[in-house]
Amino acid sequence: MIYSPEKYRIKDQRMKPFIDPDEIWEILEKIKPTRERVREVIRSALDKKRLSLEETAVLINADDPELTEEIKEGARQLKEKVYGERIVLFAPLYVGDMCINNCIYCGFRKDNKTKRITLSREELITETRALTGHGHKRLILVYGEHPRYSPEFIADTVKTVYSVKKNNGEIRRVNINAAPFDIQGFRTIKDAGIGTFQIFQETYHEPTYMEVHLGGVKRNYEWRLTALDRAQEAGIDDVGIGALFGLYDWRFEVMGLVRHVNHFEAVYGVGPHTISFPRIQNALSLDISKSNLVDDESFVRLVAILRLAVPYTGLILTAREPAHIRDQVLRFGVSQIDGGTNIELGGYSKQKEGEQDLAMEQFRINDTRSLNEIMDELIGKGYIPSFCTACYRLGRTGEHFMEFSVPGFIKRYCSPNALLTLAEYLEDYAPENTKRKGYVLIEKKVAELSKHQNVKGLKIKLEEVKKGKRDLYF
Ligand code: SAM
Ligand code: SF4
Repeated sequence: MIYSPEKYRIKDQRMKPFIDPDEIWEILEKIKPTRERVREVIRSALDKKRLSLEETAVLINADDPELTEEIKEGARQLKEKVYGERIVLFAPLYVGDMCINNCIYCGFRKDNKTKRITLSREELITETRALTGHGHKRLILVYGEHPRYSPEFIADTVKTVYSVKKNNGEIRRVNINAAPFDIQGFRTIKDAGIGTFQIFQETYHEPTYMEVHLGGVKRNYEWRLTALDRAQEAGIDDVGIGALFGLYDWRFEVMGLVRHVNHFEAVYGVGPHTISFPRIQNALSLDISKSNLVDDESFVRLVAILRLAVPYTGLILTAREPAHIRDQVLRFGVSQIDGGTNIELGGYSKQKEGEQDLAMEQFRINDTRSLNEIMDELIGKGYIPSFCTACYRLGRTGEHFMEFSVPGFIKRYCSPNALLTLAEYLEDYAPENTKRKGYVLIEKKVAELSKHQNVKGLKIKLEEVKKGKRDLYF
């Protein structure tokens, strides 16, 4: 039943396709921005107004190096205003790589006749233990698209991950990246207590979509485009969208993502929780040279443009990108990254050294640093690495979340909560030198917060963490 999108009918206006390629190209071709207009759009974004498609096109078409610098600077300021110095950390956990689809860019495509693996319950527990053993609190579970990975199966895996507790280790938020389902399917998964449900459109350009999706359910562009509407209908108000950069012109994809955000805000009163913008990487039987590769400079620019265009949407960057690109885009907009990533099925517990085997993994990753290496570096650069899950657990998601995204909320709740989860990490997992640096950072940040608010409660909770209490938040 889940694998029969042909049975699915657009019964509802809300689920009608909302991407008009002609409209997007017309806007992109029409707009020739003046310097003054670019600055006006940056100012508007700094007032935390979500940008229209026209305004986004102004930034996309402003490719003069001086204006590019101003766009990046605007993005840096906006990021600081909305997110402060927090960077949320998570890890991907691949549950199964069986797949009925034939996406030409993916190592798991059906035509790759490789050995397929689906983690057993015991293996999933072992992997989760390995991740909690390094300090992770937030995971994203990843699945191929296959009848075996039904909503019930996914719900079971979510429950299994939540059940793992060892010493102070536990996973407090499980996000999902899996195939689209029907409304009932999404409901089943929601009931297991998930955080964000991510589905990437890959490309918003339908002719390209048809060229790269050679077979399987995923060839149905519309079924995928309306997937997260069905998730919303099922009560999942925390959704993540994304495009795979390298399939089509990046300018079109940025416009597609912004249009997708507009659609959610217009229909549900709340935008997606996150946007992902993976860049295509080498994979088994993929000839990457035939891709529409996005160069590093354009990539950093597009992240800065997205930051300005959708101020309240979290931006996620993964270990597909090397450390030096991560460093740059952390400044200009990214609010979540993964750490200590291993995308081999069962890879966290094996701890194999050396090159990735692309016959066993979805694609090449370029940042293989351990979680602690990344924590240490973030701390050294003055970021606050955060494992916070408070909003999700207090039901501050979706529309409610938007209410909280108001001035002051970050300082009152997010920053203190990030510091509390950092203190937990320092106590339970960090080597001595990271711990020392981490506490210096915490003291500095508490002192900064004390200029604007009463930090007595925070100081008490930090002491409690040192004495062994866990999972404290505001
Ligand atoms: N099978 C589900 C689906 O297709 O929606 C789960 C997604 S897949 C395991 C996660 C994401 O990885 C895809 O949506 C795609 O954007 C990305 N991906 C696939 N192949 C890639 C590659 N060669 N390089 C970078 N990202 C890739
Ligand atoms: Fe399957 Fe997803 Fe890979 Fe496509 S991207 S082949 S659907 S795992």
